[in-house]
Amino acid sequence: MREKIVITGAGLVGSLLSIFLAKRGHQVHIYEKRRDLRTGQVGGGRSINLALSDRGLKALDLVGLKQKALDQVIPMKGRMIHDMDGNLDLQPYGNKGQVINSISREKLNILLMNEAEMNGVLLHFNYKCEEAVLHERKLVLVSPNGEKEKIKADVFIGADGAFSALRGSLQKTDRFNYSQDYLEHGYKELSIPPVNGDFAMDPNALHIWPRKSFMLIALPNLDKTFTCTLFFPFEGSPSFSELDNDKKIRAFFGETFPDAVPLMPDLLKQYNENPTSSLVTVRCYPWVNDRFLLIGDASHAIVPFYGQGMNAGFEDCTVLSEIIDTNEGDWDKILSEFQEVRKKDADAIASLALRNFIEMRDKVADENFLSRKKIEKELHAKYGDRWLPLYSMVTFSDMPYSEALRRAYIQDEIMAEMKGASLNELMESYEGMVS
Ligand code: FAD
Repeated sequence: MREKIVITGAGLVGSLLSIFLAKRGHQVHIYEKRRDLRTGQVGGGRSINLALSDRGLKALDLVGLKQKALDQVIPMKGRMIHDMDGNLDLQPYGNKGQVINSISREKLNILLMNEAEMNGVLLHFNYKCEEAVLHERKLVLVSPNGEKEKIKADVFIGADGAFSALRGSLQKTDRFNYSQDYLEHGYKELSIPPVNGDFAMDPNALHIWPRKSFMLIALPNLDKTFTCTLFFPFEGSPSFSELDNDKKIRAFFGETFPDAVPLMPDLLKQYNENPTSSLVTVRCYPWVNDRFLLIGDASHAIVPFYGQGMNAGFEDCTVLSEIIDTNEGDWDKILSEFQEVRKKDADAIASLALRNFIEMRDKVADENFLSRKKIEKELHAKYGDRWLPLYSMVTFSDMPYSEALRRAYIQDEIMAEMKGASLNELMESYEGMVS
C-alpha cells in the first residue's frame, strides 16, 4: 500500500531512509529546518568529513549508491601515530584491503538528497518541526514564513538529529526513558592546507597525535587538505579554557604537536575563529509511540571515536528495510519490531564509542596495546572469523554491535587469563576456547 510518510531532518540518515521508502512506492516528504545545502554554504553542520565503513556502505549498496559514494572517498588503511618527537608509526586497521573511507559530509548529504528527489521524495527546506501532536497523529511545523502548519501522515519518522524536536514530544509521555551525557571534552576543527599542491602528509591514513588525556586527529579531503579535530577538555590543565591567549595557544601547540604546527600556517586564526563544540551521548526508549519513530542520532547519538554514528544510522535504515520486507504494510509491527531488534545494538555502539576514546588518545601508543594487536593478528590468522579483533568486528563486518561487544568481553577475559604465557602457549591454549 502507498502510504504517506513524513520524515523530519534531511541530514544523512533522513535522506538515506527516504530513498529506501520511496523505492517501495511510498509518498515521502522530508521537512528540514535549514536551507537547501545545494544552494550554498549552510552553517551549523557538524564535522566536515566522516569515516564511512562497511555498515554504511552496505546500506548505500542496497539503494544503489555504494559506487557513487566510493567515487568520492579517500581510503585510509590505518592509524598514523605521531609521537611527541614527530616520529611516525602506521598501524593498519585490518587485513590488506580493509580500509575506512574519508568522505565529505556535505558531498555525501548532497548525493543522498539528489537521489531522494530522483526517486520522488519531496524535500521541504526551511521547515522546522516544532512538536508532534501524538493523539492527533499530526506534526506541527513552522513554515519559511513563520506560520505554523499541522500536517497529517500515516507514519512519522524523526531523523532530526541529537537534539530532535520529535523526541522532545515523546519525552513528555509516560515511561519514556531518556539520558544525555556530555563528555568533559569538546572538539575544535582546524585545517591543514596542501603543500606545493599536494597533501602535506600521507593521505591514506587517519592521523592521530595521542596525548593521553586528549588528542588531535586528521582526515584527508579530496581537495588535498586535511581536516584536523582537537578533542580536548573544556576545563582544567591543559584545556580550552586555559588556552585563553595567542601566546599560550602557540606554546601549547608547539610543545604538544611539534610536527603539525608547521603544517598549519594560520593556526591562531583558525583556533580563535572556529567554534568549540560539545560531545554528547543520548540514550532513550521507547523509540516508537503509535506511528511516530525515532531513528539515527535522534534515538542514539554517540561520541565520534569509533567513527560509527553515521554508519550506525545507515545500518538503522538497512534493518528497518529488512523488517518492512517481512511485514509489508503492518506498520505497528514494523515499528515495534525495529526498536526491539535495534536498541541493544545502539546501546552497544554507544559504550564501544566511549571506550574507544581512551584507546585512541592513550593506548595506541602503549606497548601492551601493540603487543595485544600482534597476538590478535596471529589468532585471527589461525582461527579466521572465530577470533576477530574488536575493531574489525565493529568496522569491517555487519555483525550486530551487541554481538561484537559480547565477543569482545570474552576475548578480553581470555587475554587477561593468558597474560604472561608465551605466544605459542597462548595459541595452544586457545584450542577449543574460541567460538
Ligand atoms: P544529523 O546529521 O544531525 O541530521 C539531522 C538533520 O535534522 C539536520 O539536517 C538538521 O538540520 C535537521 N533538523 C534538526 N532539528 C530539526 C527540526 N526541529 N526540524 C526539522 N529539521 C531538523 N559518524 C560516522 O559514522 N563516522 C565518523 O567519522 C563520524 N565523525 C564524527 C565527528 C564528529 C566531530 C561528530 C560530532 C560526529 C561524527 N559522526 C561520525 C557522527 C555523525 O555525524 C552522526 O551520527 C550523523 O550525522 C547522524 O545523522 P542524522 O541524520 O541522524 O543526524
